[in-house]
Amino acid sequence: MSLDLIDPTLNQNPPCTMCRSDKLANTTEHASLGDQALEFFSRLLDTGDWPPRWHCGRWTDFHGWFYIVSDLMIAAAYFAIPFLLYKILVKRRDFPFPSLIWLFIAFIVLCGTTHLSDAILFWWPAYRFSGLLRFVTGAVSIFTVVILYRISPMILSLRTQEQLETEIEARKKAEQEMKHQQLIRESTEELMRKKDEFISIASHELRTPITSIKASLQIIQGAVAKNEVLEPFRPMVDKSATQVTKLTNLVNELLDVTRIQAGKLGLVKSTFVLYDLVKESVEGSLINNPNYTVLINGDKTLTAYADRNRIEQVLNNLLSNAIKYSPKNYQITVSFEKRSNGQTKVSVIDNGIGIEQSKVADIFDRFFRVEHTNKNYAGLGLGLYISAQIIKQHLGEIGVDTELESGSTFWFVL
Ligand code: ADP
Repeated sequence: MSLDLIDPTLNQNPPCTMCRSDKLANTTEHASLGDQALEFFSRLLDTGDWPPRWHCGRWTDFHGWFYIVSDLMIAAAYFAIPFLLYKILVKRRDFPFPSLIWLFIAFIVLCGTTHLSDAILFWWPAYRFSGLLRFVTGAVSIFTVVILYRISPMILSLRTQEQLETEIEARKKAEQEMKHQQLIRESTEELMRKKDEFISIASHELRTPITSIKASLQIIQGAVAKNEVLEPFRPMVDKSATQVTKLTNLVNELLDVTRIQAGKLGLVKSTFVLYDLVKESVEGSLINNPNYTVLINGDKTLTAYADRNRIEQVLNNLLSNAIKYSPKNYQITVSFEKRSNGQTKVSVIDNGIGIEQSKVADIFDRFFRVEHTNKNYAGLGLGLYISAQIIKQHLGEIGVDTELESGSTFWFVL
C-alpha cells in the first residue's frame, strides 16, 4: 500500500522544513573537509540541525513504533549476548581465544548501541553522535573481521568434540594397555626372580653330591686302572666320569648365572701368556672330540692382563660351541693378535652351521637358543651369556661374524 493511499489524518507528523529531498548548499557544506570535521566534533551532541525523527518524514504511529520497538529488540539482544559471553568467559577461563571473544563482545555491544541510538533519534536527533557511534562500530567490526581471519586457521585446527572423545578413548585404552603391560612385566619379573632363586638353590644343592660322585668315580677309575679283573668296567666308568664332568659344567654354569645376577662375579686378574691358555683350552676341548683339528694362530709370547680362569672359561665355551655346532666340518681355528690400539683380540673360527642374522642380536642373552638348534643340540643357552658377562666385566667387547650354513667367528677383545 502506498503512502498516498493512507488516511492523511493518520499522518500526525507532516514533513518539516528542515528535511529535504535534495542536498541544499549551505556554508558548512562548502567548507573544507577538515573544517567540517572540526565542526562535527565540536557540535557532537548538538541537535539543532535536525528535528526529532518523528518530525522528519511521514511516520504513522504504527510505522514509527514498529521501527523503534524493532531497534530496541535488536539492541536488547545485542546487549544480552555479550553479557552471556562475558559470563562464559569468566566461568571458563580455559576458553580458547579469549581476546577474540572480548572483541566480539565489543563489536556486538557497539552494534546494539547503534540500534539504540536509531530508536532514540525519534526524540533526540543527535545525528553527529549517532554517526560517530556508527564509525566506531564499523572500525571495531572490521578489526574483528581481520583478527577472525587471522585466527581462523587456528580455530580450524582445534579438535572437534568427536575427535577429543576419540582421543580420550584412545588414551584410556593406551593407559589400560600400559597397566596391563606393567602387570605382565611385574609378574614376569617375579617369575624370573623365583626362577633365579630356584636355580641358585638347586645348583648349590647339586654341587655337593656331584663333587662326592666325582671323587668316588676318580677312586674307582684308579682302582680299575690297577686291577685287570675290573678292565671290562673301564668304558662304563670312563663314560660315567665324562657325564659327571658335563654335569659339573652345567651346575657351574648355573652357579655363574646366580653370581652374575647377584653382581658377585669377581675377577682375579694377573698377567699370563695367551698362547699357553689357548693351548690348554684347545687340548681340553679335544679330549672328548678327537675327530676335530684346532689350528692355533698367534704370537706365542703375547701376554694378557685378565682373570685367567674366567678367560679360559670363555675360550672353552667358544671352542665347545664351535665343535658342537660344526657337525660336518672338523676344522677349527683359534687366532689371537695384538691390535694397533693395544687391545688383544681372540677369535674362534668354525665352518659350522652358522647363525641367522636376525638372531645375532639375541645370541648373548640369558637362556637364548636359536630355535632349530634346540632340537638337535643339547644346551641351556647360558654359555654365551656368561662369556659376554665375563668380557663385559673386563670392560672388553664380544661379538660374532656369522653366515648361515657357512660358519661363525666368535671373537672377544680385551
Ligand atoms: P648353548 O650352546 O648351551 O645352547 P650358548 O649360550 O653357548 O648356549 O649359545 C647360544 C646359542 O647360540 C646356541 O643355542 C646356538 O644356537 C648359537 N650358537 C652358539 N655358538 C654357535 C656356533 N659356533 N655356531 C652356530 N651357532 C652357535
